Parts: sequence; structure tokens; C-alpha cells
Amino acid sequence: MVAEVIINSTVKNLNKTFDYNIPADIAGIIKVGDRINVPFGNSKKLEEGFVIGFKEKSEYKVKDIVSIQEGFNLKQEQIELAKWMARRYFCNLSDCIKMMLPPGTTSKIVDNRVREKNLNFVYLKKESEEIDFLIETKKLKSEKQIRTLQFLQENDGVLISDLELFADVSRAIINTLEKNGYIEIVEKQVSRNPFINKNIKKDKELKLTNEQEVVYNSISNCIEQAIYKEFLIYGITGSGKTEIYLQLIRKTLEKNKSAIILVPEISLTPQMVDRFIARFGQDIIAVLHSKLSIGERYDQWQKIKKDEAKIIIGARSAIFAPVKNLGLIIIDEEHDDSYKSEMPPRYNAKEISKYIAFKNKIPLILGSATPDINTFYKAQNGEVEFLKLTKRANDSKLPSVEIVDLREELINGNKTMISRKLYDEISNNLENKKQTILFLNRRGFSTFVMCRNCGYSVKCKNCNITLTYHRKENKLKCHYCGYEQENVLVCPECGSNKIKYFGAGTQKLEEQINKMFPKASTIRMDIDTVTKKNSHEEILNKFKNDNIDILIGTQMVVKGHHFPNVTLVGVIAADSSLNMENYRANEKTFQILTQVAGRAGRENLPGKVIIQTYNPDSFSIECSKKQDYDMFYNTEIKLRKQLNYPPFCDIILFGISDTEEKIVQEVSNKIYNILLHKLKNINNINLYKPRPAPIDKIKNRYRYRVILKGSLNNDSIELINDTLEEIYKINTKARIIVDINPTNMM
Ligand code: ADP
Ligand code: ZN
Ligand code: ZN
Repeated sequence: MVAEVIINSTVKNLNKTFDYNIPADIAGIIKVGDRINVPFGNSKKLEEGFVIGFKEKSEYKVKDIVSIQEGFNLKQEQIELAKWMARRYFCNLSDCIKMMLPPGTTSKIVDNRVREKNLNFVYLKKESEEIDFLIETKKLKSEKQIRTLQFLQENDGVLISDLELFADVSRAIINTLEKNGYIEIVEKQVSRNPFINKNIKKDKELKLTNEQEVVYNSISNCIEQAIYKEFLIYGITGSGKTEIYLQLIRKTLEKNKSAIILVPEISLTPQMVDRFIARFGQDIIAVLHSKLSIGERYDQWQKIKKDEAKIIIGARSAIFAPVKNLGLIIIDEEHDDSYKSEMPPRYNAKEISKYIAFKNKIPLILGSATPDINTFYKAQNGEVEFLKLTKRANDSKLPSVEIVDLREELINGNKTMISRKLYDEISNNLENKKQTILFLNRRGFSTFVMCRNCGYSVKCKNCNITLTYHRKENKLKCHYCGYEQENVLVCPECGSNKIKYFGAGTQKLEEQINKMFPKASTIRMDIDTVTKKNSHEEILNKFKNDNIDILIGTQMVVKGHHFPNVTLVGVIAADSSLNMENYRANEKTFQILTQVAGRAGRENLPGKVIIQTYNPDSFSIECSKKQDYDMFYNTEIKLRKQLNYPPFCDIILFGISDTEEKIVQEVSNKIYNILLHKLKNINNINLYKPRPAPIDKIKNRYRYRVILKGSLNNDSIELINDTLEEIYKINTKARIIVDINPTNMM
């Protein structure tokens, strides 16, 4: 017998199986999913691999498997899933397998180390791409240094002790890398695992309302009878979805099964986890989250593997946790973009969940106040069972929403970012000692800098994008590659000093607020204030606990947290997401505005929302004023149908990039021609000519794309995989990715 083996390596792009001979001593015990050591190529070092199948004999002369690694095998169904993913998402099988492995790479056992006080964390100091480049060009040769850096590429911000253990390197190597400027060591205060709190009072199940009961019963039935079904629970924030989840999990536990709950990374806060701990105690809960140290993640992973944890709460990748006897999958805030991976493997956790639920014959629950248009469409046509909650469970009131037309403000001579209406409301709130959140989806001070004499605008030298002015450091920065330069006072094109700043960001907003309300305390949250030391969680806690008057922030402020004292939310410019070059612009705008509005008046206090906009007539803004999802959906779905966008088709995007524009054009044209040829006999797939991406250069790489619109099914998957195979034969240089229904079209 011969084993088909996948080599577990990212360095070599080995997206195929290799045959190995099975020696007699392991012939009786080896199975699919086993992690093994094998010789590879001419290297003396053994490589690690996974057995993914068996066959009678090989057409090649094959080497022997050396050994099986005890205790680190994958299950047959995990291998099946990895194969399914590799085919469907057009990526490496080993990248998919990696999703299912424990954090870190070694088989060393990690004890429960105490972590408190100040500890040293290691961060990469160079761009990931630069490190790849140094390795590829052999500028960096030390195997141990390379291993350390590659480990950090995947686990940036890791404890020194974890780095030593999991990457298996000595302190001397780490010191050398620091000395040479590859990494930095940052001292941070850490508490023990922030997600596990020992002193949470137990709570009891609430008596479900009639509406909740109907929802509960439909899903509970499926748990009882072990049948697969996909549900959408559509209910506004506060309508009692979480209480239903909790009771369905209890039901699952009674059946001796486990549950996975996926939440967007940013909503996965200790408060959120506390509700589950309060109900079930922490012993049977595991949390998988990028904020945990890798050692903690490893511990959580083991707790699941040993079947001690029955409830797994985590972000996207928690769907791959090694759960035994899964009984229920819940995806909360299912409309959130974070469920789609933007890195290889470019999978969608909703699709993976569906696959797993189907195989395990269990229910899958999608919950949202503003469902994804695609999900709602499926719920309308019966593909997903539709369950609705219409009332807030604790009878708190929805906030009132008002629209302010910014064009009128201009006509009336108001040149600030704050309309008169919003100004009055903020003043009121300050007087009444209530808190305010101001939301603006642009960071920095001014988003572009332009010469009024000749029209020149300052762009990044690596990317085709304007630089953003940051007042504090007096620098111009690129938000795509991190490039920085001194501010310009004289136009580099024509020498004029008529430099003007356009497009206000959060820094400018903060400055204006501080001028208008000098007595008010403010705190700002965006990528610039959220640093390695000062997490997003800490800023929000400070806002809440120190009763800061005004929180100013980007998208980050929108999710998860519960601020009882916030009664006013101001949206400074609702238009920025409308102008995105993306068919989902309306949907994103509606979702964000509805979510922001949900931050106001969540307890007994009535809330108020002011949305400032230059497009008061846009239907997504009008619908968010009325907080009418149905109206939004009905309008949007008609547009999607007219223009042939999802859910009426899938978008298949080939992204081609390289440092040489000519090569990008060539490869794009070749892909286009191969597809054109293959599509001759297929009717319902539209192919579009190669075009530069909306941002046509990032980090010195030119970017083109070829787009297909049609349905992703066996035939089209075959077609794309064949195309890739053909193009890989002629192109070895340009980077090619395939993304299915990408969330980011830029
Ligand atoms: P969602 O997850 O939809 O935002 P939650 O489950 O968090 O809603 O419920 C919102 C609030 O209503 C919570 O404070 C919760 O304790 C309360 N609540 C939920 N269900 C009930 C119920 N059946 N009876 C009383 N209060 C409830
Ligand atoms: Zn000029
Ligand atoms: Zn740049």
C-alpha cells in the first residue's frame, strides 16, 4: 500500500499530494489524518506531512514514511473538509489543514503558566512582505532566525517565553533579531486570561416571551431529532436573541453534545463571554480569540480536544476547533464582514458552518438585526427557515433618529463638522451628564492634501492613493502601506504655497469638539490610538468607567459594547461608505447606521441619533432613519436583480499583482483568454475584460483583476481550477489570487 501525503509547508507552494511507501511496522496502524514524518527532496531534514488517502501502488519510485507523530492526528472528516475547502476556495491544501491544527507547531506540552504583571511581548518590526523578500532572496539564511520570523508573521505579539517554546528557539536568537532591527520587544501589563473571570454570579434562565418561545421550539426540535437545518433569527438588538441561544445551548448539553458560537472578533468581549459563564460556569467554556496569548490559546484548544469544554465561543476560525460530538452552531451578527477571510484560505465561515452542520446533522443558527442581503433572500425563498423577533425583550425603547442635511449647513455658513442641531444636542447631553458617541469612518486629520494652484494632490510613493495628513506628528501617512513623509508646505509640482487640506478625519473632529466644548472630556478610538499597549477594549472601558463625556471613533465604536449612560449618537458623515466602489455600499451604510443607532439609549433612558449627510435622499439613509430593514431589503434586492449582483450570482474575482505593470497586464490577458476559450460553450457566466483594480497600486505592486459573474457550482469550480493550472504553467512570477464573493472590492 502507498499513502498519499500532503507536505505541511508554506514555504514550498506544494499544492499536490506525494506518494510514500508504508513500511511493514506501521502498516496496520496508519490511518487517514495521521501526522507523519517523511524525507523530502534531497534535504536531510525530515518534513512533516499528513496522510490524506491510500492507494494500491504508485507510478513513481517512492520513499518510506519514517514515523507517525503520536497524538497529533486529524480526523478523517477534517481532511475531507480541508480538501473541500482547497477546491472551493482555490487555495493550498496545507493552508486549509493548518486551520485545524493547534496553535503553535510543536508537540510540547504547555503547563498552565501564571501570567500577570509586566511581561515582554515580541512584535515584528518589519513588514511581512519584506521578510518574505529577505528569505526568498536568501539575504536571511539562518534557519532559526527564519523560523522565528515566520512564526511571528502568523502570531505577532507573542510572549517571549511562548516564542521560545512554540517556535523552539533560544533567547540568543531573539536577541540577535532585536539587535538587527527585525523585531521589537514591548513590555506590557497583562492580566490573567481576560476572558475567564472567577467570580461571576450564576444566573437563571428567563421565562421566554411568546415570540422567543416560537423561535426556541423550532430549533429545539431539530436538536431533539438530530436534523440539519439552517435558521435565520432576525431580531433587533435587545430582542432577546442571546437568551434564546443560551437556552438552546442548554438543550444541546442535555443531549450530551457541544456547541460552537461564532461572534465577530471585535464583539467578543469579556462582558459577552460573562453571560455564558454566568449561565454555565467557566469549566465547560473555551474561548478562542486572537487577544489570548498563544499559550492560552493552546490551553483552550486542548480543553476542547479533551472534550472538557462543551461550549466554544470564538471568532471566525473557531469553526475549526476540534470539537467532539458537535450539536449546534450559532453565528451571531451573521452579516458581519469578519466571517469572510481576506487571507488564504479565503474561506467564508458561514459556508464552512453550513458544511459542518450538514455533515453532523445539526441545526445552524444565523442571528442578526440587519441580516446579510443574501441570507435574507434565502430566508424569503425558503432555503433558510425564517424566524422573527419583533419586540425588545426588556421593553426598552428604540432611539429616535433625525437626519441633518449638511448642504443646508453650508448654505447657512456653518463650516464646522458639527451641525447646529448636533451642537445643541451635545450641549444638552453635557448639561445632563449623559454620554455621547460621535462616529466618523475616516481617521487622521485630513484625508487629502491638494495644491489649489495646479491641482496636484500628494500621493504615496508605493501606492496609488492620496496620503492622509496627521496633525500631531505633522506627517503625511499612507493608510495602505504605512509609508510616511514630512508634510508639504510648498507644492512639489508648481512651487505654489496654496496647499489646502480636504476630507476631515477623526483627529480633526476631536480638535473641533475640544474647541467647541472646552470643558468636555473626550477620548478617541481609531487605529492610531489603539496601539500595542492601549487596546480597543481598554479605551472603551475607560470611556465607560471614567464617565468620559464624548467618545470619538471610527467603525470600531460600533460593536458589542453596552454603554448604559450613552443617550446621544452623532454620525458625522454618513456618506463615506456610500461612495465606496462596491455593490455592497448601500448595505454597508444601512448596517453601520443601524448599528451605530443601536448604541443609543439601551436601557431605560431614551436615546437620540443624529445622522449628518450630504445625501439625505439616499434610500439606505432614509431606511436607517425609519429603522426599517424590510423597506431597505425590498429596494436593495430589486437593484441587485436588475444589475445582476449576489444573491443572483456569485462574483469570482481573479486578482493579479506584481511589481512590473507589464507582467500584470500580460498575465491578466492570458487569464482572460483562457477563460474566454473555456466559456465558449457555457451560457450563464459573464466574463469581464481585465481592468486595473480601483486602487491600482499597493505596496509597489500593480493590481489588475478579471471578474466572472455566474453561479459557483461544480462546473465553474472545475473551470477555475483548470484555468489556474494552465496559467501556473506559464506564469511563475505574478501573484494570482481567486476570491469568491469578496467583501472588499478595492
Ligand atoms: P439580543 O441578543 O437580541 O440583543 P438579549 O438576549 O441580550 O438580546 O436581550 C436583551 C435584554 O433583554 C437583556 O437584558 C436580557 O436579559 C433581556 N431579556 C431577554 N429575554 C428576556 C425575557 N424572556 N424576559 C425578560 N428579559 C429578557
Ligand atoms: Zn501646485
Ligand atoms: Zn502606500
